[in-house]
Amino acid sequence: MELKNVMEEIVFQTIDDVRKYHDFCDCPQCRLDISAIALNKVPARYVVSSKGETYGRAELLAMQQDLDVLSIVLDAVKLVQKNPRH
Ligand SMILES: [Zn+2]
Repeated sequence: MELKNVMEEIVFQTIDDVRKYHDFCDCPQCRLDISAIALNKVPARYVVSSKGETYGRAELLAMQQDLDVLSIVLDAVKLVQKNPRH
């Protein structure tokens, strides 16, 4: 068993979603910078999970909408693209 912040998974997935509609650099550096900014703005959601267990797409989407992760990620994308560190 392990302690896991499900918001990490949600933010990573949201970045993938946003990338489909917006053109921005998603190199590893930018991706991690966007993730860090977004994760600092959303509350952590810790769960105890057995290793390898993943959430269903529907569950993640529900949490994503609940917390308006999309607009937080979009803000993070804009910030990083204004001042990329790659
Ligand atoms: Zn980049």
